[in-house]
Formats: sequence, structure tokens, C-alpha cells
Amino acid sequence: RAKQRGRDTYHVFDPNHDRLLQVRHEQRQRFLDALAGDELRLYYQPQIDMCSGRVVGVEALIRWQHPERGLMAPGQFLPTIEATPLEVDLGEWVLEQAMRQLVIWQSAGIMLPINVNISPSHLLLGNFSQRLGELLARYPTVPPAMLKLEVLESAAMHDIQAALTTMAECQALGVNFAIDDFGTGFSSLTHLRQLPVNLIKIDQSFVRDMLSDPDDMAIVESVIYMANRFQRPMLAEGVETLAHAKALIALGCELAQGYGIARPMPADELPKWLVAWPKRADWIALGRTH
Ligand code: C2E
Ligand code: MG
Ligand code: MG
Ligand code: MG
Repeated sequence: RAKQRGRDTYHVFDPNHDRLLQVRHEQRQRFLDALAGDELRLYYQPQIDMCSGRVVGVEALIRWQHPERGLMAPGQFLPTIEATPLEVDLGEWVLEQAMRQLVIWQSAGIMLPINVNISPSHLLLGNFSQRLGELLARYPTVPPAMLKLEVLESAAMHDIQAALTTMAECQALGVNFAIDDFGTGFSSLTHLRQLPVNLIKIDQSFVRDMLSDPDDMAIVESVIYMANRFQRPMLAEGVETLAHAKALIALGCELAQGYGIARPMPADELPKWLVAWPKRADWIALGRTH
């Protein structure tokens, strides 16, 4: 059998390969246990309108509360499951969890949309919009517009026709889209115009260094200019300081997310943060001073 022969061949040329495969397999098995057990958490990072100070939504970010290794960020475990069926299992868990959180917050009088990151393999699975419709039907009290899906620019571009079809189906259900890490992919302007996105998120790597690196500043300026020309709302990620905030407002970008505003936090810390935020006098209503 070809598969068997392939394995033997690997054995001949690389004795470490089987070991590597086994480690991968064990890591994935461990992640499956985490998913089935109670070790995954969603953290939430607020998104604000810098001009008014208003909180416009939150982004859900996955964390793994590992019994031995502590709180793990997605960079420590997502690569292991990338493009495997586990990525889809995780995606469905995250969506379900976000819907539950929306119900909880709704009953507490907190009406903030949740942005959920959708992996390319999940979005392009083929039955994504159908599964999303089923999910929404299980939570009839939650308006679909409370859910916003963040899709990587690169994912949308990978198979533009499939992405466009699926996104249109989801939008017909009332769900909104954001394009994540904008500026890091290679989308042409034509494609950007085609994409039915309700929000463009400027990648944090450009925003973070925009005040010290003229090239990054040029990219940020161009994205803001383009988004304004296409009349698409945009949000800057990675806003770490007040100086960033003021520069972005001056350039015409009013929505922001970043450590300077708030770090991602567990769901039960959000109500407290929402009360404390309006007291951050330096950050509130920047629009009035500019
Ligand atoms: P992303 O969607 O672009 O999320 C923004 C990342 O930037 C988050 O990292 C967030 O914690 C971090 N961040 C926010 N503000 C700042 C800032 O001011 N400075 C800096 N240096 N970083 C900031 P995180 O939580 O580690 O997530 C990394 C990536 O993992 C996300 O990038 C997203 O692509 C992916 N991810 C996170 N949660 C999920 C999920 O539930 N599903 C999928 N498929 N991917 C996820
Ligand atoms: Mg995101
Ligand atoms: Mg991003
Ligand atoms: Mg990113």
C-alpha cells in the first residue's frame, strides 16, 4: 500500500518523522480533551468609538486554561490544529459560547455585539452558513446582528468565489462581517470592493509602530483613505497609547481596540470594566478635544 510504503520511506530517510507525527497526534488528542472538558475560555476585548467614548462591541479571543501550563494564548495551540477538523470543532464551540454569552449579557442589560474569529477552513467548509442558521435558530432571542464574524483577509482571498457566496448567505441571515488583519494579505482593490464586509480592521502590527515607522504610518494612512473612499467603517487594532488614538482620529479612524483601552478579559470582568471606563477621563470623548 502506498501509505504503508510512504511510512517506511520516511523511516529510512528521517527516523524523527514518526516521533514528530506522534507528538502532533498527542497534542491534538490533548486539545480534543480540553474541548470536551472545561479548559477553553473566551476572553473579551472591548472596542470603542474614540470620538464619543462609546463602547461599540467586544472581540472574543480564545484562551486555554491548561491545568499544568496555565493560561495559554491562541498562538501556543492554534497552529497545532490548523487546517484539521479540530479547527472546525473549536470554531463551532466558540460560536455557541458567544451566543450563550450574548444571552447572559442581554439579561444583564448589556447589549454589545460580539466579534468572533472564524478560521479559513471553517468558513470554507461548505455548510458554514447552514450551520450558522441552525445556531441562530437555537437562540431566537438574540438578534443575528449581535454576532460579527472576523475573517482574515488572506482567507477571503484564498477562494474568493466560495468566500463571497458563503458571506452573502450569512449576511442574508443578518450576520455581519469584519475583515481582520487588513493590510497583511495581498488583496487587490477590486477584491476589497467586492467583499461584503461591514468593518475593516487595520492590522495591529502597522498601528503599533505607526508613530515611529514612516512605512507603517504610510500603510495606516492608505488603508484609512481607502476605507473612507469605499465608505466602509474601519477599526484600528493594537491601540496601545493615547498618542496612537489621537493620531488615528486625526487621520479619520474613530473605532479602536487595544491594550491602551483594555486587555482581553474574562466575561465576568466586563461589567466592572464598563462601569470604570467612562471615568478614564483622558480617553473619553477624544473627539471633542480635536
Ligand atoms: P486577532 O483576531 O487579530 O486578535 C487580536 C490579537 O491582538 C489578540 O491576540 C489580542 O489579544 C491582541 N491585542 C489586542 N490589543 C493589542 C495591543 O494593543 N497590543 C498588542 N501587542 N496586542 C494586542 P490573541 O488573543 O493572542 O489572539 C491572536 C490571534 O489568534 C487572533 O488575532 C486570531 O487570529 C486568533 N484567534 C483568537 N481567538 C480565536 C478563535 O476563537 N478562533 C480562531 N479561529 N482564531 C482565534
Ligand atoms: Mg480578530
Ligand atoms: Mg487582527
Ligand atoms: Mg491577528
